[in-house]
Amino acid sequence: MSKFSCKCGYVMNLSEGWSSYELTMLPEGIMNHIMEELDDNNMDSDKFLEITNNHELAVYRCPSCNRLWLESGVNSNHFISYIIENNE
Ligand SMILES: [Zn+2]
Repeated sequence: MSKFSCKCGYVMNLSEGWSSYELTMLPEGIMNHIMEELDDNNMDSDKFLEITNNHELAVYRCPSCNRLWLESGVNSNHFISYIIENNE
C-alpha cells in the first residue's frame, strides 16, 4: 500500500484509487494540443495518453494543511513541497 507522509503529519493513502488529493499538472501547450485534438479529431484515451506522456507532473495536495507536493521531474519519487505563505 503506497503512502505519502506530509510534513504536517498527515498520511495520504495513494493506493485507494482516485483520491481528491492526487492531482496532475500539465503544461499549457499540452492542454492546447489536447483541445485541438478533441475539436478536430475526436481524440480517444490512447491519443490522450500519447500526448501527455512524459509531460505530466504528479501533485499531492495535503487535505490537512493544503501544502502542495510537486514532483520535481528529477525522478517520479522526488517531490518538493510548497505551502501557503499568508493564510488569511
Ligand atoms: Zn499536510
